[in-house]
Amino acid sequence: EPDITRYSYDVVVIGAGGAGLRAAIAAREQGKRTAVISKSLFGKAHTVMAEGGAAAALGNANADDTWTVHFRDTIRGGKFLNDPRMAELHAREAPERILELEYWGALFDRTPDGRISQRNFGGHEYPRLAHVGDRTGLEMIRTLQQRIVALQQADAAETGDPDAMLRVFAETAVTELVTDASGAVAGAFGYRRADGGFVLFEAPAVVLATGGIGKAFRTTSNSWEYTGDGHALALRAGAGLINMEFVQFHPTGMVWPPSVKGILVTESVRGDGGVLRNSEGRRFMFDYVPDVFRAQYAESEEEADGWYTDPSGHRRPPELLPRDEVARAINSEVKAGRGSPHGGVFLDVSTRMPAEEIRRRLPSMHHQFKELADVDITAEPMEVGPTCHYVMGGVRVDADTAASDVPGLFAAGEVAGGMHGSNRLGGNSLSDLLVFGRRAGLGAAAYVDGLDARAPGEVLDEAASRAVSAALALLKQGDGENPYTLHGELQDTMNDLVGIIRREGEMERALSRLDEMVQRARLLSAPGERVYNPGWHLALALPNMLLVSRAITRAALERTESRGGHTRDDHPDMSPEWRRVNLEVRVGRDGDVELSRRPVADIPAGLLSGFGNDELAKYLTKEELPQEVAAEA
Ligand code: FAD
Repeated sequence: EPDITRYSYDVVVIGAGGAGLRAAIAAREQGKRTAVISKSLFGKAHTVMAEGGAAAALGNANADDTWTVHFRDTIRGGKFLNDPRMAELHAREAPERILELEYWGALFDRTPDGRISQRNFGGHEYPRLAHVGDRTGLEMIRTLQQRIVALQQADAAETGDPDAMLRVFAETAVTELVTDASGAVAGAFGYRRADGGFVLFEAPAVVLATGGIGKAFRTTSNSWEYTGDGHALALRAGAGLINMEFVQFHPTGMVWPPSVKGILVTESVRGDGGVLRNSEGRRFMFDYVPDVFRAQYAESEEEADGWYTDPSGHRRPPELLPRDEVARAINSEVKAGRGSPHGGVFLDVSTRMPAEEIRRRLPSMHHQFKELADVDITAEPMEVGPTCHYVMGGVRVDADTAASDVPGLFAAGEVAGGMHGSNRLGGNSLSDLLVFGRRAGLGAAAYVDGLDARAPGEVLDEAASRAVSAALALLKQGDGENPYTLHGELQDTMNDLVGIIRREGEMERALSRLDEMVQRARLLSAPGERVYNPGWHLALALPNMLLVSRAITRAALERTESRGGHTRDDHPDMSPEWRRVNLEVRVGRDGDVELSRRPVADIPAGLLSGFGNDELAKYLTKEELPQEVAAEA
């Protein structure tokens, strides 16, 4: 029996992106002994890749911006399916969280009078994204890490040990959550990526902050860590996931060369003035403004262009519609034969601003295209197309505490669901991480305080020994399935059959393929040693991707309407019946996924009054409408 290194903490945070780091800081500040586990290197998380910025109604660029406007934009973007309490807490607390980051040392770009500068982004009524050029996530992670180190230094001064209260376990992947006989969290099991050594954490509270699921799709902006581990861990521990049918395809990923297909081209390119054109040179987004948004968007190029300098006298350019709208429009142009040579459309900043300004505002994009595609974006347009970017669905949590309904299990960041409804606005993730990461850390700490006794008992040893045998078996099954082959098939299936436009028959085909892949995944083989064996790592993560893909596909098949990040060719419209429904996925006794329907909470009357009556009539069901509106509708 191989050695298992054991640890004991009050709170274990799985994931060291923005949500995980913010949660760990909060738990440690409550006096809890806290571990942060990350399967990537410390500092390499998706948060670091975030380019555009963090949305917060600071009101620096436009004094009319307030948290209630941010709330309204978020609900509009999510097409009224968001958890209203989450959207409210997020909009209210985001400014405080950004200022706190600044207090901890983050250096945001400035307005001429020295306040935090804010940029425009799709779906946000006012310039709202606090940013650092197009490298915002890097500064955010740097600051949060610095805060962690500062806390560790304080502990070192007091106890002589920097890890006494807060310890980081980098390149360590969690593969199992352990629950006790009552169903409450008892700990987590995993392995070190470098040497394959096994680790077991005893802890009454676990915060999931593992990010998203993009690696289940072929074309994605996500990197290797996004295999849906947290989603799958939560399901297997008995928690429910909501909104899994809603997957965001970012409209602008690189389409060429093939080696970098899917890599993100930040929305800031459009926020700062970039325009989309088809092969005929037409600025086609004017043709795709849906009725529900028509009143807020410009009808001519002249009006759109005027908005950048005079937003109160002009309506917004249609390039800044929410992401789902732009992604579908690009998809339609390409399908109609008006795409770019490599199957995308053109995104141009070169004719819109001086080269020097492009290099200053979009340094990473300039570098990325030059290095990866040999395209100089100051002189020629980029070729772009939709790429799988973000999952709105995730663990169903209590808005205030981030608690799931498994005692001791919390979730924050991309792995949590509800906040963004059917579609996330750009910039709302970085702020989400800060607001709910903190709340999850506080929630976990309060939960630990409320426990009478901690008796993890034998469940941990039993679970660990089962997990060890299963993991080792993969190394020995020499004639089993190759994990890379199976992963490729999964990615093709999800991309082609459960992608940006969905149809009943295709999703049924996807489900039967997934069933077959689940069988094949029982006999994966990753022959070799435990020491840095990437095939083995993939084999351990594949069942998670398969489970999450089944959850997405089942929910997408069930929801017979189109809304936000879920577009059904066979049900092209939003349906009032579905407006009030969150689909919840759980794993049943037989290990299969089960669906149920949960009602979406009402938006408080005080916040509903921020929307126009016409708009409400388009989204809400008759019962939900304020009486005077219902009478007219
Ligand atoms: P992450 O930052 O991804 O962190 C996840 C962590 O979990 C990592 O440390 C990972 O190693 C760890 N992990 C995963 N599985 C395991 C496991 N089994 N065991 C141990 N550790 C595990 N949003 C915005 O608001 N504004 C933007 O401008 C923006 N730009 C983006 C640009 C790109 C290219 C991408 C990909 C995303 C962008 N987003 C943006 C979205 C945003 O960056 C992410 O949604 C957000 O950073 C997710 O943060 P998180 O803390 O939930 O997870």
